[in-house]
Amino acid sequence: MRRVIVVGAGASGMMAAVTAARNGAAVTVVDAMDRVGKKLLLTGNGRCNLTHMDEHPEDSCFGAGRGWIQTVMRQLMPEDVRRFFLELGLLTFEKNGYVYPVSGQASSVTAVLTAEMKRLKIKVKLSEKILSLEKKKDIWEVRTASWCYEGDAVILACGSKAVPKTGSDGSGYALAKMTGHRIRPVRPALAPILCEGDFFQAVSGVRCRAAVSLYLRAKGGQKPDVPESEKGQLLHRESGELLWANYGISGILVFQLARFISAYQDPGRELFLEADLLPDLTEGELEKLLISRAEALGQERVPVLLLGLLNEKLIPVILKRAGMTRKDSSAKLMEDEKLAGRLADAIKHFPLVPRGTKSFDACQVCAGGVDTKQVSCRTLESKLQKGLYFSGEILDVDGLCGGYNLQWAWASGYTAGRSAACGSLDAVR
Ligand SMILES: Cc1cc2nc3c(=O)[nH]c(=O)nc-3n(C[C@H](O)[C@H](O)[C@H](O)COP(=O)(O)OP(=O)(O)OC[C@H]3O[C@@H](n4cnc5c(N)ncnc54)[C@H](O)[C@@H]3O)c2cc1C
Repeated sequence: MRRVIVVGAGASGMMAAVTAARNGAAVTVVDAMDRVGKKLLLTGNGRCNLTHMDEHPEDSCFGAGRGWIQTVMRQLMPEDVRRFFLELGLLTFEKNGYVYPVSGQASSVTAVLTAEMKRLKIKVKLSEKILSLEKKKDIWEVRTASWCYEGDAVILACGSKAVPKTGSDGSGYALAKMTGHRIRPVRPALAPILCEGDFFQAVSGVRCRAAVSLYLRAKGGQKPDVPESEKGQLLHRESGELLWANYGISGILVFQLARFISAYQDPGRELFLEADLLPDLTEGELEKLLISRAEALGQERVPVLLLGLLNEKLIPVILKRAGMTRKDSSAKLMEDEKLAGRLADAIKHFPLVPRGTKSFDACQVCAGGVDTKQVSCRTLESKLQKGLYFSGEILDVDGLCGGYNLQWAWASGYTAGRSAACGSLDAVR
């Protein structure tokens, strides 16, 4: 019977352990924390968005090449993940592709995985941090401060550096390096964005619908208020709920932009953001609406005109951007025809200057990690070290919000667990 040691009892480590045991291996899972799946418990605001019903989940992932990620994803697709959990007694429901447990609790996911590990007689060793690993002859020695586990195969499922208090403190990268693996630079991928500006304290806590675009332009080049065609290169655009904070912006739509910002290091060019705060209206429609409301309101102050369109905390900021004050009358928009255009422009093209992302403590997922060029996508076995496997976020793969990161954790855990148990590349064809 092959002995498989799994380092890390997060989502991918537990999937790897269950799969290896189902394929006949004697499995030991070792985790530094005092309970399994600490990060899993935080997912989806405690509700766990456990996958996304998508025929091409690889298209929503980054890092390794599309084909590499696809080969792993094909081994356990989102419908297989739902079936896997159904067989463990976890009912799930889908809304717009997003899949959650019907219990509404991430703890249900860890509970069914824990029960399955118990049923399969998997040994779970908690509060044991792995400090080193080494292959002696054909046996892997995996060491804590006071113990040495021996196995025929090791799966490193240590996660990334995102939210280190959940156990993923980046020590997995050091373990991978000890075995000769290259680590691609690790940085926050889904995270709030820090912005320059003195008004953020005043709007902190506001939530609004918005579309936010990220552009790249020559440094010191054009200001954002130029025609679309001259703005620079559009890198990414997302829409949804925008959350204003005292340091900048947050919310799922912002998270999706963060990976582009944390990656950016070109001294000759700079990034800028533009928020459309009324994405359901065209600029022309908005301008017409502003003028017709100005006609109706006459001498009433201009903030009154905006109250039905924007959160009231945003109004002074928008007025300042348009060169107006809260004391101006609505009638001014009719007297100066350029003013309605300027106000519409401030609402539709509100500029934001990013100065980075929040750090690892506040990010959900990291980009970078173990270079996938040195890992087989068919088995997730190291190309450098026989019997060494990787799964989950430790690898240089990260996904968009919406269940794609856990889908990656399940699919990669399944692939690594199955191949580690079978022991030969041909056995898992
Ligand atoms: C707040 C938050 C919300 C999220 N929500 C979602 C969501 O709804 N849907 C989604 O798809 N994704 C979500 N994610 C991302 C998702 O949780 C991760 O991508 C996923 O958990 C990664 O799984 P993993 O098994 O690779 O790593 P982890 O879950 O981080 O597990 C790694 C484990 O390895 C252990 N470990 C690390 N180093 C060692 C060592 N040296 N020795 C022993 N043990 C070690 C750690 O203690 C940890 O238990 C969220 C993330 C966060 C932070």
